[in-house]
Amino acid sequence: MSEEVFYKSISELEKMLDSRQISAVELAKAFIDRKNAVDSKVGAFISSNEGELLESARKSDERRAAGGKLSELDGIPVGLKDLLAVRGQKLTCASRMLENYVSPYTGTAMKKLENAGALFWGRLNMDEFAMGSSCENSALQTTRNPWDLSRIPGGSSGGSAAAVSAGECAASLGSDTGGSIRQPASLCGVVGVKPTYGLVSRFGLAAFASSLDQIGPFARSVRDAAVVLKHIAGYDRLDSTSANVPVDDYPARLSPDAFAGKKAGVPKEYFSSGMDPEVRVIVEKAVEKCGELGAEIVEVSLPHTDLAIPVYYIIATAEASSNLARYDGIRYTHRSSKAGDVVDVYFKSRAEGFGEEVKRRIILGSYVLSSGYYDAYYLRAQKVRTLIRRDFENAFESVDVILAPTSPTTAFKAGEKSSDPLSMYLSDIFTINVNLAGLPGLSLPCGFASDGMPVGLQMIGKTFDESNLLSYAYAYEQACGWNRCNPKL
Ligand code: GLN
Repeated sequence: MSEEVFYKSISELEKMLDSRQISAVELAKAFIDRKNAVDSKVGAFISSNEGELLESARKSDERRAAGGKLSELDGIPVGLKDLLAVRGQKLTCASRMLENYVSPYTGTAMKKLENAGALFWGRLNMDEFAMGSSCENSALQTTRNPWDLSRIPGGSSGGSAAAVSAGECAASLGSDTGGSIRQPASLCGVVGVKPTYGLVSRFGLAAFASSLDQIGPFARSVRDAAVVLKHIAGYDRLDSTSANVPVDDYPARLSPDAFAGKKAGVPKEYFSSGMDPEVRVIVEKAVEKCGELGAEIVEVSLPHTDLAIPVYYIIATAEASSNLARYDGIRYTHRSSKAGDVVDVYFKSRAEGFGEEVKRRIILGSYVLSSGYYDAYYLRAQKVRTLIRRDFENAFESVDVILAPTSPTTAFKAGEKSSDPLSMYLSDIFTINVNLAGLPGLSLPCGFASDGMPVGLQMIGKTFDESNLLSYAYAYEQACGWNRCNPKL
């Protein structure tokens, strides 16, 4: 067995499992060993379930031996962001509020993974309730970037990105409300996909901003991400916003010639000031490469881009203030031991259970929804959201895909932005409007800056056009292979 089995792609691991070069139990042990070797430095795992993993690996081996492999994911260990429900597993949202909460049910995307034979491996760190861009808002622990341990992994799904980047799991799931899959994927040098709103059921995803949240995969290659997405996507009557659309066989549709005869748009507003000049050059080179691969590169305009952050921080906080009202100290959450009466239970439990950023957002969200301010803020933000969506509709009349940076900088140093929420909010400037428009977007590695840190290329697709979107990314990845670089840990 190769020493670096933990750096292999799902497709490679599947071949090894099929040819009996390795068993699922041996593979599970390799990931457990890897986690034990590096996670004291990386800090991706909030908790892990070695016993359960080995037991499910044993069952996977039995299935294969009996000729009953469930899918290409059978026996593959997949990590979960700690806001995704699996029956009997803890679900903390990286918050003191839910530190001891255990899910009574399994969410749809996770159920589908289980039915495909994937093995759940660990609960991965995140910003508390998915609010943040660096993982530093986790109330439970610190996660570091595997490429440089003095830097942040991005957020909010920083643990999911770091775990894949460090070879601690073969793939993982995260959630993306304003960039939380694409931004950490970019900063950790892995592939991350945010599907079209409604493609993947949100049942069993702890809600942050329900009109923006989507579950999606992190993986070591575009093909791997396509495999995971294929298995988690699809209509679910348990999510009222789930879309009843057919799910393509994404991995089967990948083509190295995907760009031939296609038009790729580059938004002029995305290459403006505020962007690290080195990141800009690397992304521009990646765009050129897509041109060499057959795409006609054209400039497009998304004129309302600069309104995306203010609009997002009105809509997302409004929804969060409502969604987080359920954490009241009465039912399943942290309850203050200092409370005297019932009102005190609410106040003290929420004061103790929520971190600073979460409180800031609940207060902001309550304010923009309050009578007298609702029209001035919330309603206007909804109108601008429509304008942002129309910007994309107009652009997609003339192009097939949009190419852009994922993040304006490489991973920053831990502590650099944690005391300045506004500068933290700006790290999502290129990802947020994709959520506001409900479109699919992905990030894939496209080079390294001189500080040694990975840079991501963002590709934004048409609604429910994941098949083509993944195929463009695959074509670029096949030609460049940046995804095959791994951190030295
Ligand atoms: N960083 C953004 C925020 O703090 C997006 C988070 C996310 O996508 N969950 O809200």
